[in-house]
Amino acid sequence: MTSRPDNAIRSVLIVGGGTAGWMAAAALARLGQNGVTRVTLVESEDIGTVGVGEATIPPLASFNALLGIDEADFLRQTQGSFKLGIEFVDWGQRGDRYIHPFGSFGVDMEGIKFHQFWLMARAMGRPEPLGDYSLCIAAARRNRMARPSADPQTVLSSLKHAYHFDAGLYAAYLRRIAEGHGVTRVEGRIADVALRPEDGFVESVTLTDGRCLAADLFVDCSGFRGLIIEQALKAGYEDWSHWLPCDRALAVPSAKAGALTPYTRSTADRAGWRWRIPLQHRTGNGYVYSSGYISDDDAASALLGGLDGEALGDPRPLRFVTGRRKQQWVKNCVALGLSSGFLEPLESTSIHLIQSGISKLLALFPDRSFDPVMIDEFNRLSKTQFEQIRDFIILHYKATARTDTPFWDYVRTMEVPDTLSRKVELFRRSGRFFRYEDELFSEASWVAVMLGQGITPETWDPLVDTIDRGAVLRKMSGLRDIIARTAEAMPTHEAFIARYCAAS
Ligand code: FAD
Repeated sequence: MTSRPDNAIRSVLIVGGGTAGWMAAAALARLGQNGVTRVTLVESEDIGTVGVGEATIPPLASFNALLGIDEADFLRQTQGSFKLGIEFVDWGQRGDRYIHPFGSFGVDMEGIKFHQFWLMARAMGRPEPLGDYSLCIAAARRNRMARPSADPQTVLSSLKHAYHFDAGLYAAYLRRIAEGHGVTRVEGRIADVALRPEDGFVESVTLTDGRCLAADLFVDCSGFRGLIIEQALKAGYEDWSHWLPCDRALAVPSAKAGALTPYTRSTADRAGWRWRIPLQHRTGNGYVYSSGYISDDDAASALLGGLDGEALGDPRPLRFVTGRRKQQWVKNCVALGLSSGFLEPLESTSIHLIQSGISKLLALFPDRSFDPVMIDEFNRLSKTQFEQIRDFIILHYKATARTDTPFWDYVRTMEVPDTLSRKVELFRRSGRFFRYEDELFSEASWVAVMLGQGITPETWDPLVDTIDRGAVLRKMSGLRDIIARTAEAMPTHEAFIARYCAAS
């Protein structure tokens, strides 16, 4: 045993007060309760935040629960709404429309995956889409929402959800929690980072007004610039833009229009895709595009022309390079959020990556010896997770039949990572899929996107044919029926929110 209380981390400095900084602060605040560790966050109002992360995936609920956050209160305070999945429009080809839902399709039978039975049924002439066997899709198509059931015997237990919220309000909400638990906030702009001459560890940062902030552990949440992890510690960046060539975005809110949909919409466009995220008070919109294939002006026109409500401002430009920091933890500095890398928000994974980075940091929390074995493990896990999500996002671009613009020609014909090619080929042959090393997206997610974008298996699992076909088809009909009736009986998303968590 080498870990001793007198070697404990006594001070943590979080650099940056965007979503990453305040999520880290709220989660690390409890460290302060041991009476040994001080947690401080420094941010600069002059620099501001990116602040457009508005769509999430289901694990965020467990992060909020760990912080003791009440769901209804959080949604009220962040103008939040529910998300049952993402509707993809025009991706496989123009005119296509499918939903990637949370949760699963149908129920597995005799240990065989449900979609394998669906493949057999389709070959037998049953035309229903796989989406008829997902309660999330059935509810999303009807703009319905209800409280999921905790009883696994009921179909309502398959209603998995995430949230849409106003990112600025979420950061403010977390700030109240963090400050309530003793985190100190410092307003100021960092001008310099000092490294210890003897070993290159970070010693302190100096603000433009001369104040100096020292700490044992630094958490770099400074956004794309990677103020400490890159500018001071030179962690290096792996550029993935040959696979994911979108490098800019324009974001603009619009007035609410039409029904409050319980899903994010992603519409493929000439040189990228447009998002639509419905909140209680407004709709968030954006266009993620490749500057090599469309001008900023044309992208702005496409974005504004596609809004379903009046624009509430001018489009805000953002630039990025898709990829990951080669080392996300270097010496006594851990990068979280945009400073650790960037994957475009097609599957709403950035906030999740922050959450997962925080979990890993807590699971491998160091003492002042900063054991390199812990640091290596953190970096290995982070690399694997970024690469797995990268592959899932690339799939959306690669699995297309679109030939209408040079952008789609490029992504349709590009070489993709072997790790992705193998998965696609296995599915194409036999509808089979394997999840590696706790990967984030489930088999149902991969199946939804592959089928949704035209990758159709040549055959189904032969074990399906060992089970009585008539009984299987009857069970499928019953399931489809109960899913449709359950969705039909739910309140509208709007009515559910009005009753449960209406913002004041
Ligand atoms: P930032 O928001 O950039 O915050 C950086 C902080 O560092 C700021 O407080 C700044 O003041 C501070 N700082 C920087 N330099 C200094 C300095 N010198 N001195 C003092 N302070 C400093 N994620 C999702 O999960 N879902 C989405 O739908 C989604 N959509 C997105 C759409 C786009 C177009 C983009 C670009 C990102 C999207 N994201 C999304 C990602 C999400 O926005 C980020 O993960 C999230 O905002 C976290 O950002 P951050 O806190 O790392 O950085």
